[in-house]
Amino acid sequence: MTAVSPETMAMLLMFDVPGGMQLSDAQNHGHACVWCGLYLPAGTGTELGGVAPWRPTACPPCLVARARWFEVYQTWCAHQETCANCIGMQRCEYATGYRRMFRFAHAATGRAPLRCAVCRWDIIGDDAFAPFRAEGLSAPVMFLFAHVPQCPSRKRHQYHAPRPRRGTGH
Ligand SMILES: [Zn+2]
Ligand SMILES: [Zn+2]
Ligand SMILES: [Zn+2]
Repeated sequence: MTAVSPETMAMLLMFDVPGGMQLSDAQNHGHACVWCGLYLPAGTGTELGGVAPWRPTACPPCLVARARWFEVYQTWCAHQETCANCIGMQRCEYATGYRRMFRFAHAATGRAPLRCAVCRWDIIGDDAFAPFRAEGLSAPVMFLFAHVPQCPSRKRHQYHAPRPRRGTGH
């Protein structure tokens, strides 16, 4: 049996389970996984704690992957909030480790690529990134990410086609 803490389960239900309108009948009634849509014979899924008659349920691989995503994210945030190196946007070996763990955790969920909250480009390849905390907010905004120490602006221009020349031949 999958051991997922009640706290993580509550986070998944609040932030990661699609709303009922986006789910099929089978998903709303616990007969299919809310994330991958896999058919769940009775007793094979884990109920995520919806309010009856809504019974969002997950298959074991999705539940493990999604729970891992949250746990790594939260550990990383907790580090970032208290580490002098990370607060100062300096190099930090722990942050590098969390970033590597998070890349794996994210890939395992099958989610779309992360998007940078600052430049709005996808975070791809070897881009360095970290949980993003908006300035002036007393609490971190959950589940946002940004490039660190700054966005790779060269990427923006790399894909722009050259401008057509005007007025040639006159
Ligand atoms: Zn699933
Ligand atoms: Zn650090
Ligand atoms: Zn960026």
